[in-house]
Amino acid sequence: MSATPEIIADDVVVTIDYTLRNSGGQVLDSSSGDEPLTYLHGHQNIVPGLEAALTGKRKGDTVKIAVPPEEGYGPRDPAGVRALSRDTFPPEADVRPGVQFVAELEDGEHIALWIVGVDDEHVHVDMNHPLAGETLHFEVEVVELRQANANELTHGHPHGRDGSDDHHHHHH
Ligand code: ZN
Repeated sequence: MSATPEIIADDVVVTIDYTLRNSGGQVLDSSSGDEPLTYLHGHQNIVPGLEAALTGKRKGDTVKIAVPPEEGYGPRDPAGVRALSRDTFPPEADVRPGVQFVAELEDGEHIALWIVGVDDEHVHVDMNHPLAGETLHFEVEVVELRQANANELTHGHPHGRDGSDDHHHHHH
């Protein structure tokens, strides 16, 4: 077994408690009352601005940071909103606002889309992440650090807080 890492660096599995607010102070997401978040540092599991702010931190450290859109979910692109014909989707598909799905483009590239509206003929989708254009206000406490195992490094994400969780695990 490798020693427990002292500081957050690439290939360290990090567990954090966090609260995310928008610029208006509204809580968008929080691990409070829920499981803390476990991610693999240096593998783009979290937005770049937060990842950079956590580099070099230790267990027990707290970080308060405002992440601009460019280092968060990107600026909002107005051209990202499209109307697709309703019959693009299979009849049994769960088509309602807020649902995310992955579409395959003609060149084989996969992109994430969010449904923002539905009418009789069209499904309106947005290629922008719902938090695109937002400055993200994070308050984070570093809960735990451990070295990633070989499997996790191959996959580019952690397998649970202790590295043993291979169960509810899907691959893209
Ligand atoms: Zn995996």
